[in-house]
Amino acid sequence: MIPGVRLVILGKQGAGKGTQCVRLARHYVVPHISTGDMFRAAAKSGTPFGERARQFMEAGELIPDEVVIGLVRERLDQRDTRDRGYILDGFPRTVHQAEELDKFGGVELVIDLEVPTEVVLERLASRRVCVDCGTNYSLSGPPRVDWICDVCGGEVIQRKDDTEDAILRRLDLYEEQTAPLISWYLQKGLLVTVDGLGHPDQVHARMIRAVDHWRARHQPQ
Ligand code: ADP
Ligand code: ZN
Repeated sequence: MIPGVRLVILGKQGAGKGTQCVRLARHYVVPHISTGDMFRAAAKSGTPFGERARQFMEAGELIPDEVVIGLVRERLDQRDTRDRGYILDGFPRTVHQAEELDKFGGVELVIDLEVPTEVVLERLASRRVCVDCGTNYSLSGPPRVDWICDVCGGEVIQRKDDTEDAILRRLDLYEEQTAPLISWYLQKGLLVTVDGLGHPDQVHARMIRAVDHWRARHQPQ
């Protein structure tokens, strides 16, 4: 069996993290841990916690650090992640979160999926998503039948935080809080950048190559 990995994927909203992380998780046979998906699931469940998460998300604001950190710490403590590793998507998003992850995670490699801002703005405005399984579509690549998910039959809608105001707010927060993580991981010698433009298959191939090259260079002799 292929060895597991412990990867963090960074990238702006709309860079394609979600799509690529699903594929990487399948390739390396490790869990895909998306904090955004975890909070959306909580919001759907309608609990008081989920309700608070929904308010932050719809405004495009970040969930408070301590909440996110607690959730991820618990998740990484499960059997599957301890045995095989993980693909982290949407965490860490602040330097404080990264410092905490260092204590309980132990990251092998961080991939920055790079896409210019003009492109992500276009992608986000046209993004549509299945409410049930999270599969992404777009205005130019809709499901086969009438906004019904090809994968699971769920309803395909525009995310509440994909409105213009929330998108701009999320991109501002990205520059302010998340972009500093790139230099933080670079200093630790853990960062590689992968070009996120092009067909998802091409981007996927680039990401696998980046991990494999990195491993070849860092393998203990
Ligand atoms: P995007 O990257 O497109 O904004 P995600 O699906 O990754 O979307 O996350 C959706 C929302 O969930 C974020 O806007 C934020 O409110 C919350 N969230 C997800 N991950 C974190 C995190 N690590 N720290 C704080 N908030 C988070
Ligand atoms: Zn679906």
